[in-house]
Amino acid sequence: AKEQGRGRHAFFDPRINARNQRIMKIKTGLSQALERQELSLVYQPKVRPDTGEVTGYEALMRWRSAEMGEVSPAEFIPIAETGQLLGEMTEWLLHQVAQDMAAPALQGKQIGINLSARQFQTGYWVDALKTIIRQYRLRPEQICLEVTESALVENFQTAAIQLMEMQALGVRVAIDDFGTGYSSLEYLKRLPIDYLKIDRSFVRDIETDADDRVIVETIVVLAHSLELQVIAEGVETQAQADFLQARGCDELQGYLYSRPLPLSEIG
Ligand code: C2E
Ligand code: CA
Ligand code: CA
Ligand code: CA
Repeated sequence: AKEQGRGRHAFFDPRINARNQRIMKIKTGLSQALERQELSLVYQPKVRPDTGEVTGYEALMRWRSAEMGEVSPAEFIPIAETGQLLGEMTEWLLHQVAQDMAAPALQGKQIGINLSARQFQTGYWVDALKTIIRQYRLRPEQICLEVTESALVENFQTAAIQLMEMQALGVRVAIDDFGTGYSSLEYLKRLPIDYLKIDRSFVRDIETDADDRVIVETIVVLAHSLELQVIAEGVETQAQADFLQARGCDELQGYLYSRPLPLSEIG
């Protein structure tokens, strides 16, 4: 009877219940988001610290739900990832980015596209990119795929094949959130990668945390010795930018320069 009571308690835990309901709502909402035109893209610049030149932009997804209002991609992407939804959304994103790249504000700029770890495990997206590049006559070098470390480590063989194909196409590859996963220096050497992107969590406390400063310095030295470029994300203060520039970061990204903006507000 005691066991039963505990089980019942867990089942009716109001917090778990509220969480599950929210997930259900997001799934239902997302399944209609495309046809209701609730998805949009914003673009955040990547800046060369020495010249201030904008070299490119990262495309980030936004969802304004009729029922729930603005929902963060940090919340809806992991939920979309569990089913077919993220595939359809990414398909939409690729076409939208390709169209946007013809706009004067994005002309000649490199555009970063996020692929989730799970998506990266299937070869589908290499083919999808090939088709888009051909259809919209894009220069492959202008596309940079941002993939997380976990995407590479979890299935090294598959990841390696995808990356080789990307490289053969001319598409650039960045390791996103670098330093937060199970970094293996071995795969950095063996895989065709162009950029390491230092995660925001290491940039945030640079001014106060000596450990974080050492981590950032080490990543920059490591990257450059492997002939990779380094991007730091989440740069919010001039002091952070100064430190990152002094240590040789090639590109910086963050609210200090600009929040992610809709295409119509770039320029
Ligand atoms: P991420 O790829 O690491 O993207 C960086 C996140 O940091 C973005 O959050 C960006 O708006 C935010 N950010 C940029 N500069 C600053 C700053 O100076 N300070 C702070 N506090 N934050 C800053 P966002 O747009 O909410 O996206 C969250 C995550 O959702 C992304 O992390 C990415 O993993 C995922 N995501 C977003 N769009 C897509 C997408 O189209 N496809 C996939 N697969 N994932 C996406
Ligand atoms: Ca990213
Ligand atoms: Ca990040
Ligand atoms: Ca620390």
